[in-house]
Amino acid sequence: MPYVRDPDALERDLRAVFDKIQSLPDLSSLRLNYVGKSAPQCPWIAEALPPKPEEGNRLGTINACWIVGQAAHTPDELAFILGHEVGHLVLGHSARYVRDVEKILEEVKAAHPREMRFVTLDLLGGPVSPRSSAIEGVLRAEFRPRVQKLLHKNELDADSYAANLMVRLGLDPNAGVQAMGNIEKLYEQLKPSEQRARLFSHPPAAIRAQEILLRLQLPPLP
Ligand SMILES: [Zn+2]
Repeated sequence: MPYVRDPDALERDLRAVFDKIQSLPDLSSLRLNYVGKSAPQCPWIAEALPPKPEEGNRLGTINACWIVGQAAHTPDELAFILGHEVGHLVLGHSARYVRDVEKILEEVKAAHPREMRFVTLDLLGGPVSPRSSAIEGVLRAEFRPRVQKLLHKNELDADSYAANLMVRLGLDPNAGVQAMGNIEKLYEQLKPSEQRARLFSHPPAAIRAQEILLRLQLPPLP
């Protein structure tokens, strides 16, 4: 793991890979924010932030935390991880998320009008509900599994986008499979509650690796 011992190499490679991504005309408005070890707030590996209203028609910003050097051991693996976040932005995932969850809630409400009548969503799309076992039952059996399915689909689509981006950049998309192996090992170091939260929002890394291989055999996304 060379990056763990050499944080300067990590930052240098990360910025070089990002410059390469940004050199594509459709991705030139992206911004990268590198979060080094001294910063108090770290988004774990990386996260995609859609543009604020004052940022006009920019695609958004990618926050990459120093832990990315444990999820990626080579520049190609860094490119895949950045490409995955670019995928979330280009595919509009965060911008659409709460709307998609609202739709799921409406459908679950329509199927269970009595129990779900007073359930609403908070700003992040989490259910706000009075405490009752009937409501909790519907949330557990129907609402949460559907939200999880939506989140997992977004993750796999962002992986596909990243694999195609690698091809466009002349890099080896199999680096994504390698990065998933590293991420699996990082998961193992998390507390059980953190692991559960990760697995709610992300498919297991082994499944993602399989899907990358599978989708690489398909024609590129339009
Ligand atoms: Zn993601």
